[in-house]
Amino acid sequence: MNIVNSNLSFRSTLNWGNNPEVVVLHHAGAKVCSIGDIHRWHLENGWCGCGYHYLVRKDGTVYMGRNEKAVGAHCPGYNSKSIGICAEGDFNVEIMGQTQYSALLELTRSMLSKYGINKIYGHRELYSTDCPGENFPLDRIRNEVAGGSGRLVYPGYLIKMNPDLKDNNVKAVQEKLMSRGYSVGRCGDDGFFGGGTLEAVKRFQRDSGLAVDGIVGINTWNRLFG
Ligand SMILES: [Zn+2]
Repeated sequence: MNIVNSNLSFRSTLNWGNNPEVVVLHHAGAKVCSIGDIHRWHLENGWCGCGYHYLVRKDGTVYMGRNEKAVGAHCPGYNSKSIGICAEGDFNVEIMGQTQYSALLELTRSMLSKYGINKIYGHRELYSTDCPGENFPLDRIRNEVAGGSGRLVYPGYLIKMNPDLKDNNVKAVQEKLMSRGYSVGRCGDDGFFGGGTLEAVKRFQRDSGLAVDGIVGINTWNRLFG
């Protein structure tokens, strides 16, 4: 995926501490627009600048807006707990082309994996607006990301014991283990991979006929979430 650093200058200091739990999808409501256009429009709204974290253009190029760690300005109530992605175009009147769709899908997937989350919303599902337009391929994206089941996609790295690091993917593993009857110890699904979680992973692997190494790689992940 080609992500362009847009080097936008924001009017004042951004608020940091965005903690993504969902991805919110938008359209620009304009058939043609650059990240610079959006930045200017949002400055004119009196905001610090571009309120989205990413813009996906029709040619499939992805532009950085606000830093992912910065609180967004795209969906009241969700700005401090979401990644905001905008697609160039007006999908009340247009149909999204395949190049843009593929880039949007890949970006959305990578955000879900990065943050260990699985919820995708269209702006209109969270706020009174018609954004991202009635032709926006919201269900298609959800179905492709989730395989139709809402399951989490494997994040692409080995999830191992590390009692000092909080990780949403560890929390997801713990929740899943517990829902399948494997206790992860007294701390529960706290997102820290300690001894209790290690033993639970090993028990699950043993019961599932997997290699018993206490590490959640793609096979263990898929068996757990599949
Ligand atoms: Zn929107």
